Amino acid sequence: MHDWLAKAYGPQHWWPAETAFEVVVGAYLTQNTAWAGVERSLANLRRAGGLSIDGLRALDLDKLRELIRPSGFYSRKAPALKAFIAMLDAEFQGSLDVLAATQTEVLRERLLALPGVGGETADAILLYALGHAVPVADEYLRRITERHRLITPLPRKNRKGYEALVQLTREAFGMDALADRPRLFNEFHALTVAVGKKHCSVIADCENCPLAADLPIECQD
Ligand code: SF4
Repeated sequence: MHDWLAKAYGPQHWWPAETAFEVVVGAYLTQNTAWAGVERSLANLRRAGGLSIDGLRALDLDKLRELIRPSGFYSRKAPALKAFIAMLDAEFQGSLDVLAATQTEVLRERLLALPGVGGETADAILLYALGHAVPVADEYLRRITERHRLITPLPRKNRKGYEALVQLTREAFGMDALADRPRLFNEFHALTVAVGKKHCSVIADCENCPLAADLPIECQD
């Protein structure tokens, strides 16, 4: 799937950010909102000098709320970002490099214990900000893997459903054998988002899709 999609779409250059910390902030801000709103919030933060660890630490909570207002849910996202900084300072010497050096599963559990961090946000931070090889299991991946009969349909919209999807996709794609290749995970997630947006939406456009050849025969009607 990766190779077919890479051939069709080329390099995706994810995540669209200048620094690892900007990825972290973007991963929080993109929850339940469109990317256009995130870009406006990031631009506000950049102008205010708040797009670095030191800069965000220095912003007071009211100002942070105001700056990230365009990406919605700012009353929840602002304290969540502050909690991330507080954890970094208290446990990881205020350094993303020290955080990234933590063992993947330990780090994932620590991120999941933070306010405002669900599975998808934790995995996006792990993969795109900290360079750990983990799958990001979003709705696009769910649709693709279910429609290709790689996994059985799962409960949606809850932590258990997300974790089950992560586990099943790890198994379906043999991801545990690829743990030393975060670049592959990085590109694969970006490519599945691309095919999801172009072809595998609520209504599937299989006829023109680069993954049509992989559809099980019983689905090709
Ligand atoms: S649109 Fe069809 S072929 Fe493409 S990923 Fe979705 S189910 Fe597969």
